[in-house]
Amino acid sequence: MLVDSHAHLEGHRFDSDREEVIARAREAGIETIVAIGNGDGPVNFDCGILLAEKYEFIYATIGIHPHEAKLADQSALDRMEQLAKRPKVIAWGEIGLDYFYDHSPREVQQNAFISQMELARAAKLPIVIHCRPSDNSENAWEDCLGLVQEQWAPSGLGGIMHCFTGNVAQAKRALDMGFMVSFAGNITFPKAQQIRDAALEVPLDRILIETDSPFLAPIPYRGKRNEPLFVKEVARQLGELRGLSTEEIGQQTTQNFNRFFSLHEKRMTV
Ligand SMILES: [Zn+2]
Ligand SMILES: [Zn+2]
Repeated sequence: MLVDSHAHLEGHRFDSDREEVIARAREAGIETIVAIGNGDGPVNFDCGILLAEKYEFIYATIGIHPHEAKLADQSALDRMEQLAKRPKVIAWGEIGLDYFYDHSPREVQQNAFISQMELARAAKLPIVIHCRPSDNSENAWEDCLGLVQEQWAPSGLGGIMHCFTGNVAQAKRALDMGFMVSFAGNITFPKAQQIRDAALEVPLDRILIETDSPFLAPIPYRGKRNEPLFVKEVARQLGELRGLSTEEIGQQTTQNFNRFFSLHEKRMTV
């Protein structure tokens, strides 16, 4: 029993075998996948939704990634506002700040982040946050957690800190604001001690797991294309850290996911 809470299944690297990748995950016990709907920006905003509408066990998000923040003009925001109403959209994201690549100027990223938090609040959807500081810096964390505190925490809708790479103090701030903390394949990398330290401190009932496919394949697949099936390796690593089996981590994180999104309720009404 496993949930991959974050996968970019529309990615071109899945074009030749997307159906097999999804079938493989399903056969291996991945009961739910969240298809992140950033795509390449406005040209394919509905990429997550299209997959979710095709497969019962896939849910979708909608949003502009910080890399594409400069594309967040009024027409893009209006279109997302409409798409967010589709029944299988369960969160807004990934949104946030990426000061590592700086593909969009930081002020533009901050504005796109704020505008999308406003839309998510109106749509009553939790948010999925991407936060990456520049090398050897905490800059994006300071700005991101500050903006969330100001603009989002009062909504009470919470969200997911996806592919968490921050420290224990940053995880605690996110937890205090109602966030789940999601760990990805990089938790298995030898140099990622900070991630493992944080993973030991986050309460078990607030942890999610993800692949961020096709990126960041965990050991022993590092360097290859990642896929939802490999979320098992994230569960295995968390289990080793916490003295639990891969199955126990799978079960706990699946329960956490279903509780946070109340999916069983939604499944009955869709
Ligand atoms: Zn991300
Ligand atoms: Zn992602």
